[in-house]
Amino acid sequence: MDYQQIISDIYRQILPYAKEGKQADYIPELAKVNPDQFGMCIQTIEGDVAAIESADTRFSIQSISKVFALAMCLSIKGDSLWKRVGKEPSGTAFNSLVQLEVEHGIPRNPFINAGAIVMADILLSELDNAEEEFLGFVRAVAGNDTIDYNPAVAISERENGYLNASIANLLKYHHSIENDIESVLHFYFMMCSVEMSCRELSGAFLAFANHHREFDYAGVKLTSSQVKRMNAIMQTCGFYDEAGEFSYLVGLPGKSGVGGGIVAIYPLQYSVAVWSPRLNSKGNSVMGIKALELLTSETKESIF
Ligand code: GLN
Repeated sequence: MDYQQIISDIYRQILPYAKEGKQADYIPELAKVNPDQFGMCIQTIEGDVAAIESADTRFSIQSISKVFALAMCLSIKGDSLWKRVGKEPSGTAFNSLVQLEVEHGIPRNPFINAGAIVMADILLSELDNAEEEFLGFVRAVAGNDTIDYNPAVAISERENGYLNASIANLLKYHHSIENDIESVLHFYFMMCSVEMSCRELSGAFLAFANHHREFDYAGVKLTSSQVKRMNAIMQTCGFYDEAGEFSYLVGLPGKSGVGGGIVAIYPLQYSVAVWSPRLNSKGNSVMGIKALELLTSETKESIF
């Protein structure tokens, strides 16, 4: 498969969508990003790499960080993790409060904000220095020591993070988080602020694409069955209330973020990351979804 040719062709085909959608501006720092950017990188488990356009530009990974947080929590807690958070698709927005109230403070899954805020709480309780160890894990799985937080993005989100603060308060009311709300939110926003490029993200997600390889990065260890189950959760919960549509159009497990990044994997074949800041109404990158839909349609390869 000539992925370089395929993704170059895809880029030409999706150019008509370049101005569709709107970049996230509820985090003021993210509104400063030039929305007219697109990057894509695909890496196979055999080591082939194809990259186009701004594949090396770093962007805010936002909710994609929830996958790294889940990997760490699963590695520490094993199946007892599922007492604190569910694994069912939510069918609601990433920042919805409604379900959390009805379900008495147990988040539906780890990939909505409420679930990830619980993951942040677990890591704060279990680790001596959660911020340092989270970054250490991301750097190890991506094989790149220059990946970092962007504190300006985290502070900008905290200053405007009324909804996430409500979620954290509701969780605290239901005794679903142990640490104080300020520390949990600070760590959650820091995780979201990590910046990576499409090349770095697709490289990191090869660890999830290849469950035959040992998963052991900076002390975070998962069995091959745990890796496959994480992929199952990406398939059912990776795109909030658009998880069904993404599954229908693309047919791969993946995760998106409001920075405009999407990463998806084809188990035992490849990992692919796309980035373009303009989002649809569900908070997912317009060009990103289009690119991945074309990728799996043109290659006739998906998990189905
Ligand atoms: N930091 C963002 C928030 O909590 C992450 C949301 C996202 O990427 N969908 O709102």
